[in-house]
Amino acid sequence: MKHVLAILLVAVLMLGASQVQAALAADVTPTVSATTTPVSTAHFDVGAATDTYMAQLSPQARANSDAYFEGGYWLILWDLLVALAVAWLLLGTRLSARMRDFAERLTRLRWLQTAVYALQYIVLTTLLTLPWNIYEGFVREHRYGLSNQDLGQWLGDQAKGLVIALILGTVALVIIYAVIRKATRTWWLWGAGVSLVFMTFVATIAPVYIAPVFNTYKSLPESPLKAQILSMARANGIPATDVYWFDASRQSKRISANVSGMFGTTRISLNDNLMNRSTPAEIKAVLGHEMGHYVLNHVYKGLVFFAIIIVLGFAFVYWGFGRAERYWGARWNLRGAGDVAGLPLLAALFSIFMFFMTPVNNTITRSMEAEADAFGLNAARQPDGFAEAAVQLSEYRKMHPGPVEEFVFFDHPSGWNRIHRAMIWKAEHLDDADIRAAGVAVPASAR
Ligand SMILES: [Zn+2]
Repeated sequence: MKHVLAILLVAVLMLGASQVQAALAADVTPTVSATTTPVSTAHFDVGAATDTYMAQLSPQARANSDAYFEGGYWLILWDLLVALAVAWLLLGTRLSARMRDFAERLTRLRWLQTAVYALQYIVLTTLLTLPWNIYEGFVREHRYGLSNQDLGQWLGDQAKGLVIALILGTVALVIIYAVIRKATRTWWLWGAGVSLVFMTFVATIAPVYIAPVFNTYKSLPESPLKAQILSMARANGIPATDVYWFDASRQSKRISANVSGMFGTTRISLNDNLMNRSTPAEIKAVLGHEMGHYVLNHVYKGLVFFAIIIVLGFAFVYWGFGRAERYWGARWNLRGAGDVAGLPLLAALFSIFMFFMTPVNNTITRSMEAEADAFGLNAARQPDGFAEAAVQLSEYRKMHPGPVEEFVFFDHPSGWNRIHRAMIWKAEHLDDADIRAAGVAVPASAR
């Protein structure tokens, strides 16, 4: 039900901001007129308050943020082209077939052949895409002043990632290829199922075994703020006895928090940039949002959406593989879908599918993020803290996109949208003592 509303919300957004205002006004009017308490909305101009927050950013800061985020649109296309070029190189030169032949000479065990191929494939594709990834993940991040790492540290993280990919990727590919060979006509369905189980497994172990490889996670030191955060958690039925924080400043300047894990490993973590760069009001607002993800079971709902996407993805790959193999199979020396030498083709087809699913994936995520925003405003009651945080996030997210742009490219609501929502919430709560005490007039001083 909530998702239906979220999708409707997105549809409304596509009609344009002015209509949103009209629609929202229409929504709230009956409530306002029905209540007997005088509502002091008249003293508070939502649009002006939103503009005041937006004005905290200099034109230069806005231009930078827009350039960084809009550049990201092109990266989606370039990432696809790089993936296709690597696949073409491996197949067209028959290097992939030779890697398979090498694995076959090494062992007669089928699963071990898959493993040997997978190790070669993961190392080789990592090396081939390294220059591009250095540009995208290191050079570009530095150009916009978002990174705290030197090249050595960055490469160190990449090396850790490679080791994890070699372990998990090899296990996953051995299982998936065993399934493809067993179920020659229905492997797309079984393959999707196996991938889903594997992803769930990885998501469950990630906070305990993977995240600590890159960052140090600690219990947030005792403080009045922590007590307030845990109080907010208890009030919302979250069985948390601790809040984690981690040294994200090792990698970047971005403020962030997250909910991760499943089945008992679920936890809320905030990063040290948020702790060091934000006010208590902002921190409470952000954690209210994260608690929303927890209470609304977004991790599990996300898994359901992901299941649908991955079944469709495997179906597309199954269809595409059959066609591509008929034309080029002999030239590339492939022996059917169960032949691990066809992995670059599977990967290329999956990249194409995910490229076209970009707006779908973003809309699924953005809808859940909007839900968490609404939950967080109600739970934390910090509309100004939330607006301040939205301003800070402009460092890496464009503040005021057009409606179609937001629909296609945004996996979170835009900064303008979030500030505007927070100000609407504030306008509707001005008669509450805590909100009135926080001040009606204006946002805290510009930073
Ligand atoms: Zn979120």
